[in-house]
Amino acid sequence: MSETVNDLLMDLLSRDTHRVWSAACAVNVLRDPPALTTLAEHLPEIERATEDLGGGLFPNNERLRQAIYTLRAQRDGLCRCWLYPEFLTYAPLKEQEAGDVTVLSSDPPDWHMDYHCRCAHCGTEYKVEQREGHLTWWKWLKLGDGAS
Ligand SMILES: [Zn+2]
Repeated sequence: MSETVNDLLMDLLSRDTHRVWSAACAVNVLRDPPALTTLAEHLPEIERATEDLGGGLFPNNERLRQAIYTLRAQRDGLCRCWLYPEFLTYAPLKEQEAGDVTVLSSDPPDWHMDYHCRCAHCGTEYKVEQREGHLTWWKWLKLGDGAS
């Protein structure tokens, strides 16, 4: 196990909210399948160690939930895009930069913006609504077969 993965695992299991949340943030941006696979092998321990961490701020809990979903997707062999509709934090342009998504079209320019995206791995298409409140967020809606 590499140093980094081991550190992340130790942090996730630490029951120290600050360490857990910073490790969760690291997992959420980790694009390293072998590292994710290693961490996913420890999912039962991670879930046990973090389930009673409640009481945190909502964004922190969301980051932890996202990290656990990310590891579940890895464990179950699900496409990364399975995560998109579950969270409001996936920016289409960033996913495109990372090579995970192709933005087919976007609908500017307004206070909000819609994107039409296709997953670069499985071809599933999504409509993405970008909205701005306190933070910018993105709602991913899976498009049915044959939708344009
Ligand atoms: Zn996909």
